[in-house]
Amino acid sequence: MSNSLSGHRKLDWARPFMKVIHELKNEYMNEQPFKGVRLGMCIHLEAKTACLCEVLKELGAELAITSSNPLSTQPDVAEALREKGVNVFAERTLDEKVYWENMDQVLAIRPHILIDDGADLGIRLLERQSQNFNQLWGICEETTTGLQRYRSMEKEGLMKVPVIAVNDSRMKYLFDNRYGTGQSTWDGIIRTTNVSISGKTIVVAGYGWCGKGIAMRARAYGARVIITEIDPVKACEAVMDGFIAMKMDDAASLGDIFVTATGNKDVITRSHFLMMKDGAILANAGHFDIEVSVADLEAMCCEHRDMKPGIEAYKLKNGREVFLLAKGRLVNLVNGDGHPIEIMDLSFSIQLESALYLIKQKGKLSHGVQPVPENIDQKIAHLRLIADELSIDRLTEDQSKYLQSWKM
Ligand code: NAD
Ligand code: SAH
Repeated sequence: MSNSLSGHRKLDWARPFMKVIHELKNEYMNEQPFKGVRLGMCIHLEAKTACLCEVLKELGAELAITSSNPLSTQPDVAEALREKGVNVFAERTLDEKVYWENMDQVLAIRPHILIDDGADLGIRLLERQSQNFNQLWGICEETTTGLQRYRSMEKEGLMKVPVIAVNDSRMKYLFDNRYGTGQSTWDGIIRTTNVSISGKTIVVAGYGWCGKGIAMRARAYGARVIITEIDPVKACEAVMDGFIAMKMDDAASLGDIFVTATGNKDVITRSHFLMMKDGAILANAGHFDIEVSVADLEAMCCEHRDMKPGIEAYKLKNGREVFLLAKGRLVNLVNGDGHPIEIMDLSFSIQLESALYLIKQKGKLSHGVQPVPENIDQKIAHLRLIADELSIDRLTEDQSKYLQSWKM
């Protein structure tokens, strides 16, 4: 099978499950709202992302895309997308230079709007490419860490365009971060290792939206789940949800599988590796490859072995061996296909509506991070319910008045 043929088949499989975004496509097809608009995209390049590109192109956009992680590009999908006339600058490579060169190729089309995931593309433009900056109307940011990075820039007075906080809309984080990461993290771990989750002790670092989903699904598999947190409220929440909360220092010797989902650095480091059981498995579902300190592992290991693809063994001086998945990068995207199709349908529908919002509000929005308007969340939720042939109650006029009054 040619490289692109398997890519086309992946798109053909995903498309019918992406009902919401295709509903939006039908709604906007005559209007062609992206005509004349150049979009620079930096999102994991797999089948659902390619379907988003297809829709944006059919709505008139000129597109260039790269991937938001050096190892999350699926080459067959990239090839299929190229054949559809999209400018694709993405490779599955650990070569950092190539990763950044691909970003620069995307920025070279002088985008009006960036659809970013993790802020690598936007920060590259803001920091290094002022010549390509003047035409930029705004950025739509997909994920928690990306928004945290843009907010830090804003605090330092460096944000010169509006950034739409796609991640913070309810139809994104409640589904993508929680159920999406919950399913796809275990998919990535299970399809690579083929080990049983049932009966294992799982340590999840971080009880935010991603951590909640990962813990919830681990429990459903029959695992014992330990949570580590730095926020006392989240730790209380984990306990009330029926999990055990403790320090990583205490959990390190207990876990069979460790999953980080914090967006932080140095969550599992040298002293933890030394306490781990022989055969402990390490995976990251948060952001960069610094949550599990790969640098520490490399520095302290006395023997390294490549096991099957996506698994590396590190032998430590105490004679024990630990297994690192996906080189410490996002396990669900590097060792799997990322979130389920219906979930990415929601996230990408919000991306599409947010980009349209930037077009309609061009020049009117203030600089810095802005929420996705509530009506977009409501619209996407309604479309999802319609796709599932579900309908819900509506407030009567009388109920609406009652809810706004103080009288009994
Ligand atoms: P969140 O802010 O809801 O949760 C992060 C949690 O980690 C917080 O509760 C925080 O207190 C905790 N934390 C921070 N430092 C910690 C430490 N040292 N030890 C233990 N806990 C710590 O964020 P989220 O939406 O759950 O996202 C988490 C990360 O996952 C972000 O980097 C985000 O970009 C990324 N993300 C990944 C995927 C994916 O596909 N794998 C999907 C969505 C988000
Ligand atoms: N630069 C980061 C990117 C953060 S990834 C990195 O180093 O990998 C986190 C985001 O990936 C999530 O917010 C989610 O929306 C997105 N994601 C998850 N599954 C995906 C998929 N199948 N296709 C595209 N994006 C996906």
